[in-house]
Amino acid sequence: MIEVEKDAVVVGGGPSGLAAATRLAELGYKVAVVELGDELGGILIQCIHDGFGTKLFGKALSGPEFASIFIEKLGELGVESWTRTYVARVRAEGGSWVLTAVSPEGVYRFSCRAVVYATGCRERTPFEIRVGGTRPAGVYTAGLVQRLVNLYGVLPGKKVLIVGGGDVGMIVARHLYLEGVEELQIVFPEPWFAGLPRNVQQCVLDFGIPFRPRTVVKEIVGKE
Ligand SMILES: Cc1cc2nc3c(=O)[nH]c(=O)nc-3n(C[C@H](O)[C@H](O)[C@H](O)COP(=O)(O)OP(=O)(O)OC[C@H]3O[C@@H](n4cnc5c(N)ncnc54)[C@H](O)[C@@H]3O)c2cc1C
Repeated sequence: MIEVEKDAVVVGGGPSGLAAATRLAELGYKVAVVELGDELGGILIQCIHDGFGTKLFGKALSGPEFASIFIEKLGELGVESWTRTYVARVRAEGGSWVLTAVSPEGVYRFSCRAVVYATGCRERTPFEIRVGGTRPAGVYTAGLVQRLVNLYGVLPGKKVLIVGGGDVGMIVARHLYLEGVEELQIVFPEPWFAGLPRNVQQCVLDFGIPFRPRTVVKEIVGKE
């Protein structure tokens, strides 16, 4: 067991965790960030499009660029971080919090006075959003497609239907279009896209990607 003692441990190295760790360190606390992924940044790592940082830094950055500013700052502030480390248990012990975390180096035991949970959220599957049918291969969440295309260079298919007209759906549609998906369409239940007008223009209309409003997917059926 590898023992580490800090004032605070931040669980999750996405934008929330990075911001919390930065602020705590600026206030003079000794902080650790524990992240299960290969690198810090959370969802930002796969968001290779720009648009981040306009409010905070006055310029349009990609997700990784935005994350790198915080990561550099953490280094300057002396915040230690662990990646590929999964926090499996948190419990109170003699007035402290004790976190048990698993990593390729072994099992860690972090003791601290405060824990910040910044573990993000999980995308829901078709069944969780009440779309019936069988469970064919080739039904992906937007986050998974973004990860496959942007980080691993793998297309989910040549013909893609995107369900949902929010910002993420539109941004993913543009990436798929640029990567050469042959047939692409976006469907959504509302009368018009739910995302930013900027994304409607720059991700959909500028590329002539077909879309169908007032359309609800009730069932997905397939064999594989
Ligand atoms: C597909 C997709 C596209 C998006 N595109 C945009 C966009 O273009 N612009 C925008 O502003 N927002 C976008 N968002 C939203 C934005 O990414 C989120 O609002 C933001 O990432 C939330 O930050 P977070 O730190 O709370 O969570 P996350 O970024 O999800 O980070 C949480 C981190 O916690 C880690 N973690 C979880 N459990 C544990 C554990 N037990 N131990 C250790 N680590 C753990 C995870 O590995 C992850 O790195 C997008 C979201 C998704 C899903």
